Parts: sequence; structure tokens; C-alpha cells
Amino acid sequence: MTIYPERPEPFTCAICLKHCEQDRWKYAPTYDRPPVCWRCEQDFGTGQYGDLNPDRRTIKQISALAEVLRCDAYRISIGEGPLYG
Ligand SMILES: [Zn+2]
Repeated sequence: MTIYPERPEPFTCAICLKHCEQDRWKYAPTYDRPPVCWRCEQDFGTGQYGDLNPDRRTIKQISALAEVLRCDAYRISIGEGPLYG
């Protein structure tokens, strides 16, 4: 029997600022986990797309946040404004 994770409380993604609320029909291992939504985690994080392992998802979320900070730091260094939340 599979034990699914608890449904997270609604939150705002730290990257795209989208309000994330889990609907009841979403596949439990792909829930948006604070502080980053599933889409930003997959787009910016390092690792295999769609990996469902919770520990690797945490690593991927940290790498996504680091990547966004790197992008914004570069944009600021060339005189542009930051793009992400
Ligand atoms: Zn997001």
C-alpha cells in the first residue's frame, strides 16, 4: 500500500508568484510543495524531468531557487531588472 504525502497548505510560489492550491484529483507525488510550484521546479531545477522521489525533489527545488537567483543576479549586473519573485 502506498502512503501518499499530506496535501500541502495553499502557498505562493517563490519564483513565479502563482497561488498554488492542490485540487483533489492531482496525482499526490506531483503536488506543488512549498516554496516552489511543480512547474518552476521542473523548469529551473537540475535533474531528471518529473522525478517523484521526495528527497531528489527537495534537491531540485533548492537548485531551482539557486538558478533563479543566478539569472536575476546576471540581469542586475547588466543593468536589467529582476524577472522572478
Ligand atoms: Zn512557480
